[in-house]
Amino acid sequence: MSKMNKAPEISTVKVSPRGAARLKDGHVWVYRSDIVSADGVPPGSLVSVTDHRGQILGTALYSSSSQIAIRLISREPVHDFPAFLRQRINDAIAYREPFIQDTNAYRVIFSEADFLPGLIVDRYNDILSMQILTQAMDAESVRETLLTELAEKLHPDSVVERVDPRVRQLEELPPRASGLLQGEKTSTIFSMNGVQFNFDALQGQKTGAFLDQRENYAAAAQYAHGEALDVFCYHGGFALHLAPRCSHVTGVDSSRPALEVADQNASLNHRDIEWIEASAFDLLKDYAHSGQQYDTIVLDPPAFAKTKRDLDAAMRGYKELNLRALKMLRPGGVLVTCSCSYHVSQNDFLEMLADAAKDAHRSLRLTEVRGAARDHPLLLNLPESGYLKCVIATVT
Ligand code: SAH
Repeated sequence: MSKMNKAPEISTVKVSPRGAARLKDGHVWVYRSDIVSADGVPPGSLVSVTDHRGQILGTALYSSSSQIAIRLISREPVHDFPAFLRQRINDAIAYREPFIQDTNAYRVIFSEADFLPGLIVDRYNDILSMQILTQAMDAESVRETLLTELAEKLHPDSVVERVDPRVRQLEELPPRASGLLQGEKTSTIFSMNGVQFNFDALQGQKTGAFLDQRENYAAAAQYAHGEALDVFCYHGGFALHLAPRCSHVTGVDSSRPALEVADQNASLNHRDIEWIEASAFDLLKDYAHSGQQYDTIVLDPPAFAKTKRDLDAAMRGYKELNLRALKMLRPGGVLVTCSCSYHVSQNDFLEMLADAAKDAHRSLRLTEVRGAARDHPLLLNLPESGYLKCVIATVT
């Protein structure tokens, strides 16, 4: 082929003044209601975005079905999409190099926050777990580029895809099963902060673990002491980190399969931890009534506010949990309390905590107000990329 070959023409999507203002303000999404014209634009294609006057605003990935019609990938023209993808993967890897220490499990690519909207890649030692969340990232040619580059740079034994059927439905993509994309290995052992975890790439929640809590585990362990209770413990992430510092650790979760893995993890690390299968709300209520006390309590519930409409109920849920925990903490006790609901802001969360402390007649000193681990960066102009709050406080 001659060098004179022109890059393939890409379609243009015109956005309303409101959509344009949003992009100019630094956000990277334009909703369908702000699309002026996208006639004949193929689903999942790379597009040039213009305002209603035709001024070019950047290059984006287009979805024909999602409410988020446009996800900007660059403010510049993109002529060679595969080369662009390879560069972004390398940038994401390089970004993490300075602080990825003491772990072989971390998020390699975090969608918009790594300027690769719709792509999540987590590394669990020698297995990569990948989630594809948009039409554009699902294209066969894009998948091929991603897999080739990730294999070349990270040398995994295998790559597994975790499919969210609801996302595929929303994106009007054909159904697809979770499974291996490369290699044969589906289970391994990974380690973070010197703690080891069993990993089964085709089981469990999210891509298999809550990697966003990695740095919070280590932070919590610094202050943990005495008798500890890890509520919503899943595979024991907090419990296992607290164990070396505490005289006794109990983990609580309503999921038996999660507790089975937690127990295997305890054996793997030669730790003696008590696991209780129960509803956290019922258990905390019973324990509070029976006067049970602890020196360290971790609360890491699932997202209570999945949408804005759930916010009031969610805040009541958070308050109930925190109030009960505060009542059960001995003086000098440590509360590690988290929320992964995007709709609950850090301020909302701190206000709820202040309220709970007031009702429990306890004073709380904030030791640390934290977010997700640094491999889950928050894109400032995309508040949606920040969701995890983790507060460590001391009770008097
Ligand atoms: N702390 C964990 C992550 C917790 S995710 C970690 O660091 O890995 C939330 C957990 O809450 C899930 O394991 C889920 O099974 C559990 N869960 C959900 N509702 C619950 C309830 N009502 N009572 C107890 N556990 C619950």
